[in-house]
Amino acid sequence: MPDLTPGVPSALSPLVRRVVAPNPGPFTGPGTNTYLVGIDEVAVIDPGPDVKSHIDAIVGASMKERVRWVVLTHTHPDHAPGTARLVKATRAEVVAFGKHRDKDCDIVPDRVIGEGDTLEGSEWGLEVLHTPGHAPNHLCLLLEEERVLFTGDTVLDGMYSVVNPSRGGDMAVYVQTLERLRRLRLTRLCPGHGDVIEEPRARIDEYLAHRKQRGQQILRLVRKRGPVKVKEIVDTLYGSDRLPPELIEAAGWQVHAHLVELKAEGKVAGTNARAAWSAA
Ligand SMILES: [Zn+2]
Repeated sequence: MPDLTPGVPSALSPLVRRVVAPNPGPFTGPGTNTYLVGIDEVAVIDPGPDVKSHIDAIVGASMKERVRWVVLTHTHPDHAPGTARLVKATRAEVVAFGKHRDKDCDIVPDRVIGEGDTLEGSEWGLEVLHTPGHAPNHLCLLLEEERVLFTGDTVLDGMYSVVNPSRGGDMAVYVQTLERLRRLRLTRLCPGHGDVIEEPRARIDEYLAHRKQRGQQILRLVRKRGPVKVKEIVDTLYGSDRLPPELIEAAGWQVHAHLVELKAEGKVAGTNARAAWSAA
């Protein structure tokens, strides 16, 4: 089993290495995964948080002049802030999605990429997929030689992805993205958090089934008890007495995201995360 210890590079395949950042937590699992793709010419996917020891470990896993690109799956604070320090050490080109900049992120890509673009190293190619839902600017990268998908925060190991409407998350779009990824022919998923997923379709099916079930549970609850607030739905569905406070907050974002989707389908009525929601 490859190592998930922060700072210890592990080889996942002939072309892919992983370094885990030292930022474990309820939303990050063992820490953010930074991937190095290629040997002679390296693309670093998601440098993670701006932590010197982590950036040193990334640079140490390659010869620094071989790091040619820093590719961002999205610009959330656990994935992107290490970019400046890594670029300073390697002079790599920053490659990311240009639109929908995150309000907390000041990174300006050297090259803007999007759906259908490819990034070519001497021994590999990465195909770019625009995969919104978790974040509007989210990209997944497909390593053509191995049919491995770098999923960022779209699919994770050991937990479900957070869809937060107040940060650009959109549940309906997220589910469409999952359905699209499900149709791809893939050998493995390399997620932004947790270990490699060896059965891509089974994991994506699990994600889709979970989201469908939550949506149905929330709709039933609103029909039975509405008008009802997000907090009451969280208490009922997630059992708030069993969850740490930060996860209760995230459960509220998920419930709100489902309510927004149900509203677009004409099934519920309500305005925001603090409002009471009723059946339409
Ligand atoms: Zn994220």
